[in-house]
Amino acid sequence: MASELEPEVQAIDRSLLECSAEEIAGKWLQATDLTREVYQHLAHYVPKIYCRGPNPFPQKEDMLAQHVLLGPMEWYLCGEDPAFGFPKLEQANKPSHLCGRVFKVGEPTYSCRDCAVDPTCVLCMECFLGSIHRDHRYRMTTSGGGGFCDCGDTEAWKEGPYCQKHELNTSEIEEEEDPLVHLSEDVIARTYNIFAIMFRYAVEILTWEKESELPADLEIIEKRDTYYCMLFNDEVHTYEQVIYTLQKAVNCTQKEAIGFATTVDRDGRRSVRYGDFQYCEQAKSVIVRNTSRQTKPLKVQVMHSSIVAHQNFGLKLLSWLGSIIGYSDGLRRILCQVGLQEGPDGENSSLVDRLMLNDSKLWKGARSVYHQLFMSSLLMDLKYKKLFAVRFAKNYERLQSDYVTDDHDREFSIADLSVQIFTVPSLARMLITEENLMTIIIKTFMDHLRHRDAQGRFQFERYTALQAFKFRRVQSLILDLKYVLISKPTEWSDDLREKFLEGFDAFLELLKCMQGMDPITRQVGQHIEMEPEWEAAFTLQMKLTHVISMMQDWCALDEKVLIEAYKKCLAVLMQCHGGFTDGEQPITLSICGHSVETIRYCVSQEKVSIHLPVSRLLAGLHVLLSKSEVAYKFPELLPLSELSPPMLIEHPLRCLVLCAQVHAGMWRRNGFSLVNQIYYYHNVKCRREMFDKDIIMLQTGVSMMDPNHFLMIMLSRFELYQIFSTPDYGKRFSSEITHKDVVQQNNTLIEEMLYLIIMLVGERFSPGVGQVNATDEIKREIIHQLSIKPMAHSELVKSLPEDENKETGMESVIEAVAHFKKPGLTGRGMYELKPECAKEFNLYFYHFSRAEQSKAEEAQRKLKRQNREDTALPPPVLPPFCPLFASLVNILQSDVMLCIMRTVLQWAVEHNGYAWSESMLQRVLHLIGMALQEEKQHLDNVTEEHVVTFTFTQKISKPGEAPNNSPSILAMLETLQSAPYLDVHKDMIRWILKTFNAIKKIRESSSTSPVAETEGTIMEESSRDKDKAERKRKAEIARLRREKIMAQMSEMQRHFIDENKELFQQTLELDASTSAVLDNSPMVSDTALTALGPAQTQVPEQRQFVTCILCQEEQEVKVESKAMVLAAFVQRSTVLSKNRSKFIQDPEKYDPLFMHPDLSCGTHTGSCGHIMHAHCWQRYFDSVQAKEQRRQQRLRLHTSYDVENGEFLCPLCECLSNTVIPLLLPPRNIFNSRLNISDQPKLTQWIRTISQQIKALQVLRKEESIPNTASSKNSENMDELQLPEGFRPDFHPKNPYSESIKEMLTTFGTATYKVGLKVHPNEEDPRVPIMCWGSCAYTIQSIERILSDEDKPLFGPLPCRLDDCLRSLTRFAAAHWTVASLSVVQGHFCKLFASLVPDDKHGDLPCILDIDMFHLLVGLVLAFPALQCQDFSGISLGTGDLHIFHLVTMAHIIQILLTSCTALKETPSGWHLWRNVRNGIMPFLKCSALFFHYLNGVPSPPEIQVSGTSHFEHLCNYLSLPNNLICLFQENNEITKLLIESWCHNIEVKRYLEGERDAISYPRESNKLIDLPEDYSSLINQASNFSCPKSGGDKSRAPTLCLVCGTLLCSQSYCCQTELEGEDVGACTAHTYSCGSGVGIFLRVRECQVLFLAGKTKGCFYSPPYLDDYGETDQGLRRGNPLHLCKERFKKIQKLWHQHSITEEIGHAQEANQTLVGIDWQHL
Ligand SMILES: [Zn+2]
Ligand SMILES: [Zn+2]
Ligand SMILES: [Zn+2]
Ligand SMILES: [Zn+2]
Ligand SMILES: [Zn+2]
Ligand SMILES: [Zn+2]
Ligand SMILES: [Zn+2]
Repeated sequence: MASELEPEVQAIDRSLLECSAEEIAGKWLQATDLTREVYQHLAHYVPKIYCRGPNPFPQKEDMLAQHVLLGPMEWYLCGEDPAFGFPKLEQANKPSHLCGRVFKVGEPTYSCRDCAVDPTCVLCMECFLGSIHRDHRYRMTTSGGGGFCDCGDTEAWKEGPYCQKHELNTSEIEEEEDPLVHLSEDVIARTYNIFAIMFRYAVEILTWEKESELPADLEIIEKRDTYYCMLFNDEVHTYEQVIYTLQKAVNCTQKEAIGFATTVDRDGRRSVRYGDFQYCEQAKSVIVRNTSRQTKPLKVQVMHSSIVAHQNFGLKLLSWLGSIIGYSDGLRRILCQVGLQEGPDGENSSLVDRLMLNDSKLWKGARSVYHQLFMSSLLMDLKYKKLFAVRFAKNYERLQSDYVTDDHDREFSIADLSVQIFTVPSLARMLITEENLMTIIIKTFMDHLRHRDAQGRFQFERYTALQAFKFRRVQSLILDLKYVLISKPTEWSDDLREKFLEGFDAFLELLKCMQGMDPITRQVGQHIEMEPEWEAAFTLQMKLTHVISMMQDWCALDEKVLIEAYKKCLAVLMQCHGGFTDGEQPITLSICGHSVETIRYCVSQEKVSIHLPVSRLLAGLHVLLSKSEVAYKFPELLPLSELSPPMLIEHPLRCLVLCAQVHAGMWRRNGFSLVNQIYYYHNVKCRREMFDKDIIMLQTGVSMMDPNHFLMIMLSRFELYQIFSTPDYGKRFSSEITHKDVVQQNNTLIEEMLYLIIMLVGERFSPGVGQVNATDEIKREIIHQLSIKPMAHSELVKSLPEDENKETGMESVIEAVAHFKKPGLTGRGMYELKPECAKEFNLYFYHFSRAEQSKAEEAQRKLKRQNREDTALPPPVLPPFCPLFASLVNILQSDVMLCIMRTVLQWAVEHNGYAWSESMLQRVLHLIGMALQEEKQHLDNVTEEHVVTFTFTQKISKPGEAPNNSPSILAMLETLQSAPYLDVHKDMIRWILKTFNAIKKIRESSSTSPVAETEGTIMEESSRDKDKAERKRKAEIARLRREKIMAQMSEMQRHFIDENKELFQQTLELDASTSAVLDNSPMVSDTALTALGPAQTQVPEQRQFVTCILCQEEQEVKVESKAMVLAAFVQRSTVLSKNRSKFIQDPEKYDPLFMHPDLSCGTHTGSCGHIMHAHCWQRYFDSVQAKEQRRQQRLRLHTSYDVENGEFLCPLCECLSNTVIPLLLPPRNIFNSRLNISDQPKLTQWIRTISQQIKALQVLRKEESIPNTASSKNSENMDELQLPEGFRPDFHPKNPYSESIKEMLTTFGTATYKVGLKVHPNEEDPRVPIMCWGSCAYTIQSIERILSDEDKPLFGPLPCRLDDCLRSLTRFAAAHWTVASLSVVQGHFCKLFASLVPDDKHGDLPCILDIDMFHLLVGLVLAFPALQCQDFSGISLGTGDLHIFHLVTMAHIIQILLTSCTALKETPSGWHLWRNVRNGIMPFLKCSALFFHYLNGVPSPPEIQVSGTSHFEHLCNYLSLPNNLICLFQENNEITKLLIESWCHNIEVKRYLEGERDAISYPRESNKLIDLPEDYSSLINQASNFSCPKSGGDKSRAPTLCLVCGTLLCSQSYCCQTELEGEDVGACTAHTYSCGSGVGIFLRVRECQVLFLAGKTKGCFYSPPYLDDYGETDQGLRRGNPLHLCKERFKKIQKLWHQHSITEEIGHAQEANQTLVGIDWQHL
């Protein structure tokens, strides 16, 4: 079909390109009916340009549209070539001083915590960097898209509204001037014409609802009937569902389906089929059928292609308009005018209105295009912003309703623009007064919550999923209300007062519907059947909390408003609870001669509700009356006389009693919903407008009534009246032991009641209740939080209630109360309470949870013990109450209170068997303490003429009245002081008695009567001495015990160092290890130590005993005994790689014999150093395997290790391992013993001998490979080449190792081969020994790098496990040849040898520039025994080692000289040359020293064990090298000349010297992780500019940075998945395969999170190296504090990488947190 169309399409294209924009514009200028003319043009051309096939061609369409459609418009508008016209317009423009940049998804935004009027005010990065706020306390977030920069908006910033760039533009704009004055009349007229037509066209076509018919003026006759099957986005169906459905419906591949789904998700719609109507209709029905099972079906339409074409052009047009108005503010204004002009149909008919009202019908893409246009036009024009705001407010109700029923996220709804409008203070105020916005919002909200109960309260019971969904959406209205209230008025007009109060009325109506909602009744007998719905009500409360607070803030600003609001609120409360009419009977209570009337009401029997927002609002307003002093200034205006204190306290008291009863376990049968409600009631998210206000309401009520009356009512509500009103009730009560539960219950209730009294008197830190300010309040919160434990900044922030400046509020006081302790390498910065603040600690602080209270108590007592103070925690000195609440203190000295105290003390004195508790007593003591503090303060502040009416001390000195005749409270306290069972409270009682005496003294001194020692003090004195002695004795016992424990500890630690991983890592830091020291103990004399060669220092044989960690048996390491093994982990590595683009292409064919100097792919071996018997390990591994198989069958779970790949966890330290290394003695000693002859050949002679031997072998080998050829020829060859003297190629040495060791040699060799090459295990493969040598060389090299980078000495104390690992690895590699085929190893040796000493058999070997010399050295040395074992001529192994080493060293020197050519040209002096060689060769010498040290076991010279200057000479001595390396060449002058010549004549070397190729130069620099910027926001910015490399310019959702090479990847997304080994993997996993051979270190930029990946199934998150000023990381960027690079933490990550510990780290993380195992890491 497409091919048939092709010529036709081309013809059309040609005709289109022939159009002239100028000509068309000219025609339009002449036209009488411009609209008709333009419409005809569009009708003709649009379908020719857009939608001509199944797939869109955006570039081509854009090009043609610009040429044929937009071009003429631009010509018309400018009246000339737009290339000249637009720049002219731009020049004439006075640019706006508003930035208005619309944010992209993921772009960083900044808000100033000091200057932003509200948190929604943000700056773009450019403006921020040019503003004063960059030095303020700012907050950084990433934008979710939408929204724009507020730079230049004077209403958004308290200070510094302009950045430097936008400040420039403000100088000229004094007053608001009409931007049209900069345009000519003609331009204005033409712009107006064309904008009006185009804007109308766009709106018309986008809101067009017919599927196959165009608007009449766009219809053309000759139209082709093609259709699209258009699929629309919804938020109900998942990606997977859509993809699956599409594959079925339109027969596409999965890739195509993913493409469709991605576009639908992004743009909101996508055509999935193109063709005739029937064809499309068929696809539609399949899609609908497939998606309608559980949910409503996906939206699909079959649309005529010309409609789609026009719609696509409509969108293009809107973006065009947006860019055109960027040229001139005048054009922008014209567009606004056009948009807001009322259409022919009157109200709501402007284009802007039409778009808004159709919002929910449009698809996502269309919405975001026109929203953007609104933002860049209407919201950027000061005049029209206001008019638009009015339109928005007028349509508010409708827009919200549309949004509530729509299923798109809020960011795609026009309703979301409310944040842009309502947060502008002047607009908000205007909308409140002129459009009654507050009332509208609240009413709209109420309209959407229709479910009410019989009393008209909200009812969320039997609440369907759909309603829940709607309810979530409705909540955005509360957010709007919040926006409107965010900025408080500085001036009040009468209009504003009136409209605010009207809004307040509506708000009260809302609260009234909440007062008493979700009532509950105690469940007795049976447990409730179904947990009642409670979350909806609490969500509502939680969302409203902030609004309620803001309402009060507004009221506080104007006295008239406050008085009116108070009246209104009281009236509504009266309506809610008009007296006690709900059938409750009056009763009379009396205690101590006081009596009061109240009602009979039991919380435990009747309905009770936690929701009392009206009461609480009234409490808040009441405090404001006190705070603003309105109560004293205008008492006559207030309805104070109407207040009925018992009515005020009733409901809050019930609520508090409910909490007490729940705590006492009386509501257990009501299930978790109630427990949760009580939790939230006290929680920081709600308490401010719930629990706190209930306390205030009680304080309000009590301050207006007789405290005795109050206490009696309280006793009654707590259902404790009987206990305290009946003398001896306690005795009787406790005798009924059968009701143990009831006794317990009552005890708890009494404790709770006492706690409540403490709170009522003690909580005076709300401004208005006590004489304090907001700072005092927040200070006290922080002091109490820090009394529990030191806390990080974010923890503290979380514990404070949310309001607009909670953090800045906290920061203003934090310095005063706390010290900051910086974080170390892990953990976070902590605030610690200053010691002097401890005296303000109140054990009964009302915001403590029970757990917090006991933690705080413990912490504070411990602190006191440490300071050698007594442990009493007396109540702190409190600020005075405000006058309105002043009478509250009288509770403490009221008769009923004293009676309660006396009763509890009496119980404590009588003690045995009575129903009482220590907590009860502790609370009473606290209350007595409070009363004493109060009296002391009164006395301190008393003035001459006043009499102190607070006489607590007198009252407690009096004995009880008849008939009890109980002793006085004081006397009882004195009795209790010596009670042995009250040891804990002794200190507190002593404090009370002391304070009592102090007060007495003050009173007596003021009344000048003689001071008499009371009995109490004497008693106190003597008991104090006794106490002291007792304490001393206890301290002594404690000390002895401590010492004993310490001794045990240090004993245990000795084992621990060997066994514990963390400690082990510390030892790396501490440089304190045992093994290296042992090795170097002076068993050899101090004479020069030599590591190799005939002169090698002889080390006496050491016997080595090790213990198996599994069976705990000790065993000696011997050649013939059972194998002992170390757990080991072999992995591929690119840590040292100098060429990350290189990796093994075809592992089956890859030849690893020569390592390239770029070290691009190495094999690293690590070990935790834990030793086991080989057979013990085998048994352990088999059991792990079996267990794992069973587990996988059962649970289908992953583990942190992959058993099928041979992985297991070290049984002791759980370190990830995948094989074991056998433990061996120095293998050289075994073979070297037979020869030690002084007369050894020189290098030249040795090379000659070896060459002969090699030649002989080659001949033999050839003969073996062709056994059937004529024997004559063989003998010929043999004759030709005499066997060198003493060489016996037929000799096969006996393997000295035990079977078990041999088996382990094979096991480890095979594992190295399998992992290193990623092939199937094959122990016969000739590459196995090469891989073993390679891993040994690579591991030594990587450790040498770590030591050098950290400036550590080469033979300094290495951590045991590294030491053990290197030793075993080297010895293993040296012994491995004994289990390999002798001829294979000989073959390797010959080839390796030939790379330096060329022979005629090996022509194609790499030149010396392309060989890593250390790998070569290790290979040669370790393969040599295979040749030497057949040599009986007397050449020792040591001689061979020495000559090999010298030969390789010489080659390396030449290599260094060749590759430092450039350096040589610059600095030709001999000294420089020498220095170059010396620097270049050092790493090689160091590696060689390590290698021979571990191979031969010769201790290192003490000089190299400490760090210091270069140890070149010492190294040379140790390695048997001349200090002057040139001697090497001179000594062997005859052969060196030949060798050098052969090395340098290689063609590759020539190419290099001629500059045709590159080579690695020496010393190789260590690889580092990439440089990260200091400021995290520049990373965010970088990432926000990054778009997905696969889906043409789309922003990546999870941009992720590879820390190894710096590549940015589009992670965790369908678009960038690739196939790897037959599986779909995400961009990160794919990247690790090329960049890190499977291991990756990434930074997820949006989340500020480090990601470690290993293989496809392993991964973990790691704490990022960025910290805020409080020393905390911000994973997920939730808090938004500025983040800065912490170099030390970044180094730590780099170190993990260098040490090859990433995989191990992942393993540990996954073991610690099982949820990490379940993550699909390969999709990241
Ligand atoms: Zn900006
Ligand atoms: Zn700016
Ligand atoms: Zn600022
Ligand atoms: Zn064992
Ligand atoms: Zn271990
Ligand atoms: Zn990378
Ligand atoms: Zn992508």
